[in-house]
Amino acid sequence: MRKAFICPTKYVQGENEIKNLGYFVKTFGESALLIAHPDDVKRVKDKLDETSKKYGVTFVESDFHGECSRQEVARLQQTAKDHKCSCTIGLGGGKAIDTAKCVAEGEALIIVPTIAATDAPTSHSAVLYTPEGAFDDYAYFKQSPSVILIDTTVIAQAPVRFLVSGMGDALSTYFEARATASSYSNVNAGLPCGAREETCSPAKGTNTALALAKLCYQTLLTDGRKAKAACECGQVTQALENIIETNILLSGLGFESGGLAGAHAIHDGLTILEGTHKYFHGEKVAFGTIAQLVLENAPKEELEAVLDFCLDLGLPVCLRDIGVESITAEELQEVAKKSCIPEESIHAMPFPVTEEAVAAAIITADRIGEAYKVKRGVSA
Ligand SMILES: [Zn+2]
Repeated sequence: MRKAFICPTKYVQGENEIKNLGYFVKTFGESALLIAHPDDVKRVKDKLDETSKKYGVTFVESDFHGECSRQEVARLQQTAKDHKCSCTIGLGGGKAIDTAKCVAEGEALIIVPTIAATDAPTSHSAVLYTPEGAFDDYAYFKQSPSVILIDTTVIAQAPVRFLVSGMGDALSTYFEARATASSYSNVNAGLPCGAREETCSPAKGTNTALALAKLCYQTLLTDGRKAKAACECGQVTQALENIIETNILLSGLGFESGGLAGAHAIHDGLTILEGTHKYFHGEKVAFGTIAQLVLENAPKEELEAVLDFCLDLGLPVCLRDIGVESITAEELQEVAKKSCIPEESIHAMPFPVTEEAVAAAIITADRIGEAYKVKRGVSA
């Protein structure tokens, strides 16, 4: 059986770690193309100036336009060439990070997430959009990022909703990796020429990735509530450090090498509902996780542990919590249909999945979540 594991070369996190960014740039050369939204640069400007001086490196500002499009990527690659940049830095949230991955094309790349809202920073894939902001395509690269550098002070001071949303994304990781392992589904990890089945032969997940996914879930249960409190005060504590590592590293390695299954596919289906659009990825994934647990008829204790976690953190447990006040039978059917298209990860579940079963799981998860809120005395 062919198995594979893929990961970034270096991961480093610490208080004020951006002050060491110059050190990592220096390992590649004298200058780096800095892809970041101007607001994010402003937040860390002092640290960038300090590290640039200390290590004698130059950050070439890129005037990033905020959208990860083919046009923007081509423009930035030209800027990098013009300034003879020896590496690329993606600093900020999802779009800056994805754009940096596309510009670097698997070469020297430093990712500096300023929020811990998803597990995307560690992965070797990105999402391309049209200049108008519509979905274009997925992009995969020959290598994962060279360095993931996380300044925990910056994450602690970011809005707490990002951190909680990242925990929602991380919540699904173990259950999806477990399902993928049970079904011996391909995870498409660690492949030499990109991750698409049509370009190379796929591989199964490793025990390593499954163990990391398990640790991801355990750490959420142990430290999630404490980390949220720390972030509410803007403070770095050990619990917050553990959750930053969980949201970004454990969840990232767990999903990329352990595989996705029901939760993310149901998330994808839910995105066709207008009401969900103002909710973050991880918030919708949290509800998708509950729906997957219903779909696979997980034990009551497990389902209740997840519901308790979500309610304590303020993560969604029912459709109303992700902006869906009511849903028609036709809409539910459409959501289930999108969740079950042939290329979706839902087919990594260890049993045949039908649209009817997914629709039933979503509506039942909604009912269970609503009832659990009443039981726990959570209003609205
Ligand atoms: Zn995700």
